[in-house]
Amino acid sequence: MKIHEYQGKEILRRFGVRTPKGTPAFSVDEAVEAARGLGGKVWVVKAQIHAGGRGKGGGVKVAKSLDEVRAHAQAILGMQLVTHQTGPEGQKVRRLLIEEGADIRSELYVGLVVDRATQKVCVMASSEGGMDIEEVAAHTPEKIHKVFVDPVARLTDAEADDIATKIGIPAASLPQARTILKGLYDAFWDTDASLAEINPLILTGAGEVIALDAKFNFDSNALFRHPDIVAYRDLDEEDPAEIEASKFDLSYISLDGNIGCLVNGAGLAMATMDVIKLYGGSPANFLDVGGGATTEKVTEAFKIMLRNPGLQAILVNIFGGIMRCDTIANGVVSAAREVKLAVPLVVRMKGTNEELGRRILAESGLPIISADNMAEAAERVVAAAAAHAARA
Ligand code: ADP
Ligand code: MG
Repeated sequence: MKIHEYQGKEILRRFGVRTPKGTPAFSVDEAVEAARGLGGKVWVVKAQIHAGGRGKGGGVKVAKSLDEVRAHAQAILGMQLVTHQTGPEGQKVRRLLIEEGADIRSELYVGLVVDRATQKVCVMASSEGGMDIEEVAAHTPEKIHKVFVDPVARLTDAEADDIATKIGIPAASLPQARTILKGLYDAFWDTDASLAEINPLILTGAGEVIALDAKFNFDSNALFRHPDIVAYRDLDEEDPAEIEASKFDLSYISLDGNIGCLVNGAGLAMATMDVIKLYGGSPANFLDVGGGATTEKVTEAFKIMLRNPGLQAILVNIFGGIMRCDTIANGVVSAAREVKLAVPLVVRMKGTNEELGRRILAESGLPIISADNMAEAAERVVAAAAAHAARA
């Protein structure tokens, strides 16, 4: 799960990480009020969306008067902000963060991820912070320093000071940097984050160290123990099909192809997408209906796939283990009737009660194309999608 910058900064402050003073705003008037409340002479108006690269996309603007705050807020709120992380359609800006302007001497980078190989949290830091850390990683990887932190000891003072020194923080500012790095590590650990990033971490003209941006991703499997983080969820930033799917406990991810996939089991779902690709097709989604799918769940899954206007065919691929093929067949038949299915449907079922399942499909009178194995299913669905697209 992702959150907004201003929410990330709230978490950071709880862990003693210094950030600029700031206030979220949901309207132009609120933005001006927020700036007035913060005081000072320079403010930054920042678009809040769940994507980085806002600065380059025109979503971060410096204002030197309240009138300028108003003008920037007017321009940014409601805009379709396009960054390298949003895709070409961009993301609509519905929230702003109004923040005091910082006096930046240098922009540094610090990011934390879970490293699977060492089973530790990896702290990455660089003197080359700001907007182009991906370029730094690609062209001058030696400028990115890494520490793999012992989970029992947590980030030590010595490790923190070593990182800070390597990224150019002067000796006088080391105590501040230490507080920030240790606070960031603790925030990451205690919230079950999967990624945390401060880019830029800045050194000010007066030698202060401040987190100017904040990005967090959280491990959704651990959210049950963090109701405070769940409360940060912003459904406007999520895919409507994925939100709908989560209500029915379906694991669904939208993709940009045209063949809908309904599969039980995540591994089989991945393999199904691979086979579709192998036969020259392109999946419209990943969908794992889980082990205990009911007729109702299958119907909902069909409805969610059919929301996609680009859908040209559906492939149902079921291994009947705990899930029985006749249950799925009943679900498929009732769903196809309820949604008045207008795209070709290919079904491949194997396992428990497969004969019964096939009979249910055959006797339904619906134009279901059945297939005996995965290769055949993929070949048939790719052909059916192409034929359907050609007719349309
Ligand atoms: P993004 O990473 O999405 O582009 P950032 O929050 O990193 O957004 O902001 C982009 C740039 O804007 C920063 O690298 C920094 O130069 C500038 N900036 C952001 N916040 C402030 C601030 N409070 N004061 C001064 N400059 C800022
Ligand atoms: Mg940034």
